[in-house]
Amino acid sequence: MQGLVDEVRGSFGGEITTLRRDIHREPELGFDTEKTARKVLAALDGLPLEIETGVAQNGIVATLQGAGDGPTIALRADMDALPIHEETGLPFSSGTDGKMHACGHDGHTSMLVGAAKTLSQDSFRGRLNGKVKFVFQPAEEGGGGGRVMVEEGVAEGVDQIFALHLWPGLPFGTAATKAGPIMAAADKFEMEIKGTGGHGAMPHLSADAIVVAAQIATALQTLVSREVDPVQPAVVTIGEIGAGSAFNIIPETARMGGTVRTIDDDLRRRLPERMEQLAKGVARGMRADAELDYTFSYPVTRNDPEAAALALRVAASLFGEERAVETAHPSMGGEDFAFFLEKLPGAYVWLGIGDVSGLHTPQFQFDEEILPQGAALLTAIALEALSG
Ligand SMILES: [Zn+2]
Ligand SMILES: [Zn+2]
Repeated sequence: MQGLVDEVRGSFGGEITTLRRDIHREPELGFDTEKTARKVLAALDGLPLEIETGVAQNGIVATLQGAGDGPTIALRADMDALPIHEETGLPFSSGTDGKMHACGHDGHTSMLVGAAKTLSQDSFRGRLNGKVKFVFQPAEEGGGGGRVMVEEGVAEGVDQIFALHLWPGLPFGTAATKAGPIMAAADKFEMEIKGTGGHGAMPHLSADAIVVAAQIATALQTLVSREVDPVQPAVVTIGEIGAGSAFNIIPETARMGGTVRTIDDDLRRRLPERMEQLAKGVARGMRADAELDYTFSYPVTRNDPEAAALALRVAASLFGEERAVETAHPSMGGEDFAFFLEKLPGAYVWLGIGDVSGLHTPQFQFDEEILPQGAALLTAIALEALSG
């Protein structure tokens, strides 16, 4: 497979870089990826693909029939951006205040287009014993577009599925994955603390929701440190907390919001119950009450061992052994590719972009040389999976 990166770069490197910049300039959020989808369709125009649009609102599924009647594999990219104000200073920076491709989904989309263009060429298509579905998904960042795509039948008739994610902190051009859990279950919660309001000078006549909230925030941290097996990964983060309207008023209510990350399914089910018991116990002890509203969002992204091995084998032959790494631990980030992997065997693969600003930061950017590398990796995965 050596030489494939050069071939993809030579044939389509310019086009997919331009596409990435066009998408980057016009970021769209959630399911509203209409313009992005139009750009993808324009880039796929003229290829021998059967195209289905309007999947999960603005998603696209493009199917390539290979030479043989073997299995069907799917390659998935996410298309949505984030509500972040870009501060990269790039000439093709976001043209929309408060929206930015800060998670690299512009890159994922262009890499998948690059794979579609490459595999559509007769010389590659003739080597595919089966079908390839190119899945362009909206709403990864919180909307659960992957879940909607699965509900709309995108996983039906598919035998294996793969996805890449650009990964800061991993050496540039290195692919990493593992069998089993690769990304955590990502759940969210809101809590309302109900006390009794009053005059700031007369605390004894009130039940101060702020002080109760502060105690609960601290107590919740003991769930991970004191109740979870120390070798079991878990995160409880309170990301929002709010109360009050004036310096001399004790507020009646306070609210907080946060996220819980787990890998173990039993722990995932157990934590909300313990959070509620603990919060209510602390609140009642302070003459207040607490209500927990808990939402199970993205499940654990669990790789099939064979699919993960295939991806690593392909990456090793493409990039060299030292650039195909079996990672020891999952990330505690969440990923809605999990919904596909609940239905199908497959693998989620990190593609290193070196020491750059983190995902979801206003400074996030990457060297576009990764685009032909990622497109070649997706291409090579399809060739290997459909080589039989
Ligand atoms: Zn993200
Ligand atoms: Zn992402």
